[in-house]
Amino acid sequence: MKNKNILISGASIGGPALAYWLSRHGFDVTVVERSAALRSGGQAIDVRGPALDVAERMGILDDIRRMSTSIRGMSMVDSTGKELFRSTERTLTDLEFDSPDIEVMRDDLSKLIYRAAGEQEHVEYLFGDSIASLDQNDDGVRVTFERNAPRTFDLVVGADGLHSNVRRLAFGPESEFIRHLGTYLAVFTAPNFLDLDHWQVLCAAEKAWGGVMSARDNTELRVYLGFEPDEPLVYDFRDTEAHKQILADRLAHAGWEFPKALTYMWDAPDFHFDSMSQIHMDSWSRGRVVLLGDAGYCGSPMSGQGTSMAMVGAYVLAGELKAAEGDHNVAFAAYEKELREYVTQNQELALSNKARLEAEVAALTGAAAPEQDAETPELQDFAEVVNSLTVKDY
Ligand SMILES: Cc1cc2nc3c(=O)[nH]c(=O)nc-3n(C[C@H](O)[C@H](O)[C@H](O)COP(=O)(O)OP(=O)(O)OC[C@H]3O[C@@H](n4cnc5c(N)ncnc54)[C@H](O)[C@@H]3O)c2cc1C
Repeated sequence: MKNKNILISGASIGGPALAYWLSRHGFDVTVVERSAALRSGGQAIDVRGPALDVAERMGILDDIRRMSTSIRGMSMVDSTGKELFRSTERTLTDLEFDSPDIEVMRDDLSKLIYRAAGEQEHVEYLFGDSIASLDQNDDGVRVTFERNAPRTFDLVVGADGLHSNVRRLAFGPESEFIRHLGTYLAVFTAPNFLDLDHWQVLCAAEKAWGGVMSARDNTELRVYLGFEPDEPLVYDFRDTEAHKQILADRLAHAGWEFPKALTYMWDAPDFHFDSMSQIHMDSWSRGRVVLLGDAGYCGSPMSGQGTSMAMVGAYVLAGELKAAEGDHNVAFAAYEKELREYVTQNQELALSNKARLEAEVAALTGAAAPEQDAETPELQDFAEVVNSLTVKDY
């Protein structure tokens, strides 16, 4: 086997999933994660279609099911709290609650995958560090870290998210690859101050929208708040206090339970804020460096498919490296060939979901329906897209 010694940057979903599969195929893996520990927080995410097969092959499907959110239904209110929609059968975007998909908290899934990877041999984690430089030649990639001593690896994988450090170092600035969808989203944990029972409530106010959903058997709420500014914001994506202030300024007078939710934000145990954006790249690899998940092909939370794409991407990337006996040129090309169409369709799904949601909300609130123009995406069949790939056996 060639290229046995592999460095992965990022330990959320894609990174640990890849560590699991590479280790199972006989590679030696090091994972570097900027945070001091696995990051908590994030909304409920869905594991769907081929990602369910991947989870089953990893032996974690039953655990994911056991930890699922078990949400019974949802309602939507206006900014005065008046209920406009309620269903235990389907979501606002017409997804059925009773489906094979599993909804689970992002951090619960991350822990499950991390634990599964940790049980494999040959996986080493470097928490609290980040790659400072990459220098590749025909024989390997010389890596310097911010804290650890420099090392040489055969291959480097960027699984470090929308603002990928590896992508910046190996491919160029983020601005060349990012497409902003116009919305900003924050997620944090609060006490269950609405006494929700396995329930989700959405609110569409004039300049803001958001929702709350009970989590972990109703012991807490996950609050998600969003807004669409007229112009893209300029901000430091690592400055959490500044993000909280932006949100407070935007949503303090938005109505409904927004002000109350904001009072819990300041001391929340976790907080995640980002733009809804996508990453589009002509190629996901450059020499010995390759990208996985949000780093290479982020679909945005609007796609609902970021986690499934990262899990499936990890399985395929590791599988193709195994099949090519470590030959990265062959494996990276095959990884891209196998996944490109699935990724493209799932990225388009985000635009389709956004249009569908805006039309539903307009119909419920009596607001003017969004204008249809040449840019308006076709409404795609959700189930068809999320199941459009069947994973191979490797
Ligand atoms: C805290 C958090 C909350 C999230 N909340 C939501 C949500 O509410 N809804 C949603 O749809 N998606 C959310 N996401 C994104 C979601 O996890 C991904 O879309 C999807 O699961 C694909 O995961 P990924 O592993 O490719 O990337 P990500 O989940 O983004 O993980 C990237 C990882 O890389 C790490 N990292 C970043 N920079 C460096 C660096 N320089 N060196 C080393 N490590 C680095 C990050 O700390 C993180 O652990 C969240 C991600 C995080 C990290």
